[in-house]
Amino acid sequence: MANQSRRKFMRNSVLGLAALPFGAGILSKTAFAQELPRLDPSSPTAQALNYVEEASDASDHPAFEEGELCSNCMFFVEGTEGCQLFPENSVEPDGWCQSWTAQG
Ligand code: SF4
Repeated sequence: MANQSRRKFMRNSVLGLAALPFGAGILSKTAFAQELPRLDPSSPTAQALNYVEEASDASDHPAFEEGELCSNCMFFVEGTEGCQLFPENSVEPDGWCQSWTAQG
């Protein structure tokens, strides 16, 4: 009897361990998405800086120059696709806004 319940315990532990990496992966993905929702270009904060999700859409803006992208802006946060000017959101790496500044 004792032997049987120990075996059961062992089997449950092994199953639990095997499931762990899978569960952890899902959790961290969800956490990432919840942490930084994509900036909505139609939101007042985004519009205040003329943010666009495709840099080429800003070609008629006087401050825009070819080759400027969020991904090569000094305010871009690589790991989270974040932007220091929009700390609540992530931005499109191919996007642009009028505060674009060359990396130092
Ligand atoms: S400040 Fe830079 S990274 Fe942030 S939205 Fe503007 S161009 Fe993109």
